[in-house]
Amino acid sequence: MQLELSPEDAAFRDEMRTFFTTEIPQEIRDTVAERRELTKEQIVESQRLMNQHGLAVPHWPVEWGGQDWSQLRRHIWHEEMQRAAVPPPLAFNASMVGPVIATFGSQELKERFLPATANLDIWWSQGFSEPDAGSDLASLRTTAVRDGDEFVVNGQKTWTTLGQYGDWIFCLVRTDPEAKKQRGISFLLIDMTSPGVTVRPIELIDGGHEVNEVWFEDVRVPADQLVGELNHGWDYAKFLLGNERVGVAPVGATKRVLAAAKQYAGEQLADPLTAARFAELENELLALELTALRVAANSSDGKPHPASSVLKLKGTELQQAVSELVVDLAGPDSLASGAGEDSAIPWWSRRATPAYLNLRKASIYGGSNEIQRQIIAKTILGL
Ligand SMILES: Cc1cc2nc3c(=O)[nH]c(=O)nc-3n(C[C@H](O)[C@H](O)[C@H](O)COP(=O)(O)OP(=O)(O)OC[C@H]3O[C@@H](n4cnc5c(N)ncnc54)[C@H](O)[C@@H]3O)c2cc1C
Repeated sequence: MQLELSPEDAAFRDEMRTFFTTEIPQEIRDTVAERRELTKEQIVESQRLMNQHGLAVPHWPVEWGGQDWSQLRRHIWHEEMQRAAVPPPLAFNASMVGPVIATFGSQELKERFLPATANLDIWWSQGFSEPDAGSDLASLRTTAVRDGDEFVVNGQKTWTTLGQYGDWIFCLVRTDPEAKKQRGISFLLIDMTSPGVTVRPIELIDGGHEVNEVWFEDVRVPADQLVGELNHGWDYAKFLLGNERVGVAPVGATKRVLAAAKQYAGEQLADPLTAARFAELENELLALELTALRVAANSSDGKPHPASSVLKLKGTELQQAVSELVVDLAGPDSLASGAGEDSAIPWWSRRATPAYLNLRKASIYGGSNEIQRQIIAKTILGL
């Protein structure tokens, strides 16, 4: 197995490393490295800088701002971004709705939305999940009824990440209540400033405001904002969810946090149990990194590889394990998450618990890890 980078790919890696560490403002990178919450402006600024250099949506068709890179180069781009603590391009735009519009949308929708989506001139939210329709997504109940040149939308979405910033939301809606579950769903683009759209915050255990409920009451949506064909939304959703899991194993970011944890540990590293915990996590991360590289190097047709479920599963487990290690290293200081910036307790100890609590989400979103295990059992192991 040859896993060394060719001289060309190594040069590409150096180019990415230089870009991310010199062009993206230090303050934004510090915010990520110190696990503080990014503002909307910081996320937009970072993505626009990348887009100016053709680095925001490399996996899109070249015509719409993509790069004709190998999977390996996309992987290197992603890893270097994480390693430099650069916020990734907004996933809802870059990995979710963008590729769906580029693949299934009309020419008019592409021209109208793709440049603005790449540049984050439009902030997209994802309106898939509903109460009782998360893992069992096809049970969704939000309806869209055709009325002349419009659809009238009614229902509720939940867990809408950063919906408070959303300009537009891409939604799965039921357009044929008589059809078999999956066959009566369509994919609709909705302007969140439309009358009848209400966004309500959900309070989180880490004290942050990251997710929301979104309500639709008689929201009128122009029919030309339907993506692809009526009642074929499930096919587009499956395509989108496959892409969502690609790049979801945050190897670079987890390695960065683990390396920082070694600094935080100081004298605690002399304790054999602590040292063994580091060694085990480093080995598992190395194995995951090599697996991710192997998957990237072996998938050539641009389609999500089924092994992306393995990466999601293992990647989120390791991310959570590292966040737990940081809490243990902080010890009683990890309880001081409410202390202000003038506290004598180091910042990393104060942020350890909120970060740990926040990362519980990683094994749920993007398809819960139990569901990933079922995908692995069926599509990889053939069980
Ligand atoms: C922080 C966060 C952000 C999110 N952001 C968004 C967003 O922006 N937009 C959006 O549309 N959605 C979003 N989601 C929703 C997310 O995709 C769903 O939470 C996820 O699909 C799980 O669905 P559920 O919460 O309804 O759990 P349920 O489906 O009710 O599952 C509960 C538990 O049962 C397990 N389970 C369910 N079915 C099975 C089965 N068949 N076999 C074995 N175990 C099973 C699950 O794995 C889980 O552990 C977000 C979720 C979180 C936590």
